[in-house]
Amino acid sequence: MIQKVKIVIHGVVQGVGFRPFIFRLAKELDVKGWIINSSQGVFIDAESDRKTLESFIRKIDTDRPKNSYIQSFEHTWLDAEGFETFEIRESKESGSKTALVLPDVSTCNDCLDEIFDPKNRRYLYPFTNCTNCGPRYSIIADLPYDRCNTTMGEFEMCPECRAEYTDPLNRRFHAEPTACPKCGPQVTLKGTDGTVLYEKQEAILNAVKAIKDGKIIALKGIGGYQLLCDASNQDAVITLRKRKRRSEKPFALMLPNAKMVIAECEVSESELRLLSSVEAPIVLLKKKKNIQSAISIECASGNPYLGIMLPYSPLHHILMKELGLPIVATSGNISEDPICINEEEAFEKLADIADYFLVHNRKILRHVDDSIVRIVSGKQVMMRRARGYAPLPVVLNGIKGVTLAAGPHLKNTIAINKANNVFISQHIGDLENIESINAFKRVINDIKSFYELTPEHVICDLHPDYISTKYAESLDIPVHKVQHHYAHVLSCMAENELEGSDMLGVSWDGTGYGTDGTIWGGEFLVPQGISFKRAAYFKPFRLPGGEQAIHDVWKIGLSLLYSVYGEKVFELEIIPFLKKNDALLVKQLLDKNINSPVTTSAGRLFDGISAIIGIRDTVNYEAQAAMELEFAADDFKTNEYFSFSIDESGGSLIFNWENMIKGIINDLNESVPKGKIATKFHNTLAETIVQIVQRLKYSKVLLSGGCFLNKYLLEKSINRLTEEGFKVYTQQRVPSGDGGISLGQMKYSTYIN
Ligand code: ZN
Ligand code: ZN
Ligand code: FE
Repeated sequence: MIQKVKIVIHGVVQGVGFRPFIFRLAKELDVKGWIINSSQGVFIDAESDRKTLESFIRKIDTDRPKNSYIQSFEHTWLDAEGFETFEIRESKESGSKTALVLPDVSTCNDCLDEIFDPKNRRYLYPFTNCTNCGPRYSIIADLPYDRCNTTMGEFEMCPECRAEYTDPLNRRFHAEPTACPKCGPQVTLKGTDGTVLYEKQEAILNAVKAIKDGKIIALKGIGGYQLLCDASNQDAVITLRKRKRRSEKPFALMLPNAKMVIAECEVSESELRLLSSVEAPIVLLKKKKNIQSAISIECASGNPYLGIMLPYSPLHHILMKELGLPIVATSGNISEDPICINEEEAFEKLADIADYFLVHNRKILRHVDDSIVRIVSGKQVMMRRARGYAPLPVVLNGIKGVTLAAGPHLKNTIAINKANNVFISQHIGDLENIESINAFKRVINDIKSFYELTPEHVICDLHPDYISTKYAESLDIPVHKVQHHYAHVLSCMAENELEGSDMLGVSWDGTGYGTDGTIWGGEFLVPQGISFKRAAYFKPFRLPGGEQAIHDVWKIGLSLLYSVYGEKVFELEIIPFLKKNDALLVKQLLDKNINSPVTTSAGRLFDGISAIIGIRDTVNYEAQAAMELEFAADDFKTNEYFSFSIDESGGSLIFNWENMIKGIINDLNESVPKGKIATKFHNTLAETIVQIVQRLKYSKVLLSGGCFLNKYLLEKSINRLTEEGFKVYTQQRVPSGDGGISLGQMKYSTYIN
């Protein structure tokens, strides 16, 4: 089947023969399409079969002209248009010629060679960079991108650095953050009271020693602080968990090299490419089974996946080379606060967690978390979009004027456009405390001031109590509100360049404010521009105790069972949580309808089923019950699903899950393994999508919302829908979770008059 891949590259210099190179490569591989090289970047539309396009992508990386370099490389799989030739198109340059703020770029190979060459003047210098690599977004105060507008401005270049910087033939010609051991920033190892213990290379060596001794280091990295410890040392990992008060949520890891990643995990070629890409994100990889792992089980217990990244800054490279060990590299913050970026804050917040601080005197201007990506069905699934990606724009046509999209409440990102460039911010986080709210406002101001933008409209969520909604309302410009799940669908449309109403958006997540004031989350929506049709949704159920039920997921399980079995629910011997002391109390809440809001949430259905199957009664972190339900299904090969019915009410279809619950109870009574029940549950949901789409007769299906970060559900849904002849669209460059809401809100603005 012919597909199209849309490639956006930033950082390629003009005049090195990049366009002719792509042209020749396309001819050689018989790829059709076009290339444009403009001041906004290199844009390529390439069509061929999947395999050819994959080698096209690989060869751009390996065979490109010697003096070209790539500072960002993003691609999206789209529908083919049927090009007949490959052509070099002239760039129109009608849009603005403003230079873009680039993301922070991982260390290039040339710089790496210098760092590990004892004869080089930058030998083991942790702030080595060049025009092709180094920090960008995290150190830029203003545009134009000149040294004086970055936090490197305070470092006076030495004559040697200045000579490189001013030589057009040098790799460091106008490398704004360039530095060397003589003139640039330096590292220091400090105790928790701030006393300087060691400096320069001694600081790094002693940090390495401390990590090997099981200590915890707070490291000032690129976009903020990270907490590091030896991932092979169980006691160290447990200590970090205790001190960070993070009992079970998986820790991200950094491994010294790709070889060790391959030894620990199943790694496909596209995953390997991603790990060592310029973006260098955390990639979720499946652990190998039955191996002698060097990674303590405590890093991600009960989780068949590991979040792994490779060293991406010189400081990380030097540390990891000395260590030769896998390390935990988790964000330097308290719970869900934004990561610390300055020393004062770090010492205040992390002194009880870290034993030592490895810091430096190059200022970080804004927090940029490590991005998290996974590959599902051969496509990228963005879970957290930050370092390496933000604030690169996504192109979206039809926006009128300048629009600010204020984003959702949880996992917030914001977006602002300049013409058809939509700048999507880095992951900001949950707007639940003053630090996050301040970060939210700072990021909006950053993007506004970089591009000198004054928003004329603001788009926000329909939820009246969200901080982002209230912020939008506080601005003195027209406010437009978009229903949360519709924004998910619009985000998926924007990414896939879809327009019109002949499609069904499947929008499943944990929570979103519905147009009827109830909590939605299991929605099937048909886009209709400014509005939408709620074509189908999950049969509603109650959340006894309201928000609290998100933690005590067994209460959701009880609610589901109660709605199926009524008074007979307590006769279900097989369900242990029914014997809990407060089970009767929960029933009373439901009976009297006290603090028990109705919801159609797919995420909450996952939670409740997880409790019923006996996987989790309560959770320690967001989505834990649903994730463990996914993991239970991970290895079980069955296509069986539970029976369910599709009802009709008020012109909408209703996914009635009652028979499914009965099926689950039957299986439990017959001692069917939990993994198999979990698999059948996932299969049932995929089947629900298929049957609803068949009833509604749409040929295009869009999958969005946080539930589709679930690999099993996403894969199964794609496979079943494709088998039945539907075209499936997913999110690739922005998260299908709430991090993608701001793009959906921006898409909404194209319908406003
Ligand atoms: Zn470099
Ligand atoms: Zn220098
Ligand atoms: Fe959502």
